[in-house]
Amino acid sequence: MAASPFRFDNTYARELPGFYAPWKPASVPSPSLLFFNPELALELGLDPELLNGPEGAAIFAGNRVPEGAEPLAQAYAGHQFGAFSPQLGDGRALLLGEVIDQLGQRRDIMLKGSGRTPFSRGGDGKAALGPMLREVLIAEAMHALGIPTTRALAVVGTGEPVYRQQPLPGAVLTRVAASHLRVGTFEFFSARNETQRVRQLAEYAMARHDPDLVGTADRYLALLKRVAQRQAALIAQWMNVGFIHGVMNTDNVTISGETIDYGPCAFLEAYNPDAVFSSIDHGGRYAYGNQPLIARWSLARLAETLLPLIAGEDSQGALSKAIGQATEVIDAFPEWYAAALLKGQREKLGLQAGDDQEDRALAADWLTLLHEYGVDFTLGWRRLAAAAAGDEMPLRSLFPDPQAPDAWLARWRSRGEGGQAAESAERAGRMRRVNPAVIPRNHRVEEALSAASEQGDLAPFHRLLTALRHPYDETQEQAEYTEPAGAEVTACYRTF
Ligand code: AMP
Ligand code: MG
Ligand code: MG
Repeated sequence: MAASPFRFDNTYARELPGFYAPWKPASVPSPSLLFFNPELALELGLDPELLNGPEGAAIFAGNRVPEGAEPLAQAYAGHQFGAFSPQLGDGRALLLGEVIDQLGQRRDIMLKGSGRTPFSRGGDGKAALGPMLREVLIAEAMHALGIPTTRALAVVGTGEPVYRQQPLPGAVLTRVAASHLRVGTFEFFSARNETQRVRQLAEYAMARHDPDLVGTADRYLALLKRVAQRQAALIAQWMNVGFIHGVMNTDNVTISGETIDYGPCAFLEAYNPDAVFSSIDHGGRYAYGNQPLIARWSLARLAETLLPLIAGEDSQGALSKAIGQATEVIDAFPEWYAAALLKGQREKLGLQAGDDQEDRALAADWLTLLHEYGVDFTLGWRRLAAAAAGDEMPLRSLFPDPQAPDAWLARWRSRGEGGQAAESAERAGRMRRVNPAVIPRNHRVEEALSAASEQGDLAPFHRLLTALRHPYDETQEQAEYTEPAGAEVTACYRTF
């Protein structure tokens, strides 16, 4: 047998017994490699040539467990739409193991859709092709946009149907992540009052994501703060590209600060803080504009799991003090978020640091203008870059009345750049590097997925993926991907 293509070093399996169930992936009848990510393979120190063929298909289908892998289903709990589920866990996913990438970073290799596990409850453990290709498109788009995210290494068609409302082609996704530790992983043991296990998990999380904290005093409070700061930065980035996660349950909130679990996610078209696309989000809990509040809520759930560790000893006094300290972190979240948001907005507006109040108001009034006139969020920002170079018509044409943005544009121009000319090609260039032309437009994603699942035609998927990998380019080939679906289509758009 050939040597394993992976050099696994499985710390989770080794250091956290009791936090998972060892398990084997199901075999599938006829694996075919439908998507493979050679750049990511290289980044992981893997041999793309070896994996981009039958060998890869067998491994990424779960039919062949590579040497050194220790497949396991992770245990976790989670608050779903606010209600606590004490036992979720990997019901259709398996961690194969961990590798050290070319930058020395530890990365999880996980199969998703690889069959039932002890955590499957009523589920079939499987995945349909459409949603797995959707995860590829959105994750790779987020990565190209510079947003921390899990990545997609491969998708294999299984050759067997998966039954949802109807039979659909089945698939397995190989996902790569800095780790799969979630707020829900902490909740699992905390809810069982297994403080020693929560401590073990916190130590593991620190060693993996915040090694400088290992062994320091007050490290559990410091860990909470780090996670909160990563989430503040992440959500600010989501907001600045118009990303709506759709299902920010605590089991989908990572300790690493990566975006995870692309289910009913979508991108804004016309700017609207109340936008919700998920068919299961009836109350709008996970609406676009609610995301920072929900992130803070999830961090409060993480804080609760860490209280006994922060307190250190089992006394009322120590616990009260810990609650005070943890509350300070949770209360600081809105400021960290606002600072990260403003930093991103300044870049999008083509401004260098200035007066915070003034710039915050300038950005807020811009968004109000987009909201008021139902302007496409992505195009609005992108065309502001052209306006910076003096070409205002493309922007004005987005408004029913081309004069509508007059007053705001005058204010933005007068904000200028410390003596620098407001109209500057340099400034426009800078703005074009942070305001994407191409995002995964919902109608283009759906079109690519239905061609793949209904006609077995992967060409639209590959074309869209290529466009998404160059979000800041506006070449001839990119042009068709920059157009919005329009208000009628978007109003009816639902994700599942
Ligand atoms: P999600 O909504 O994707 O975050 O998943 C929530 C929980 O449902 C997790 O524990 C998943 O593993 C589980 N789950 C989702 N789909 C399936 C399925 N088809 N079979 C078994 N478990 C599933
Ligand atoms: Mg999930
Ligand atoms: Mg999911």
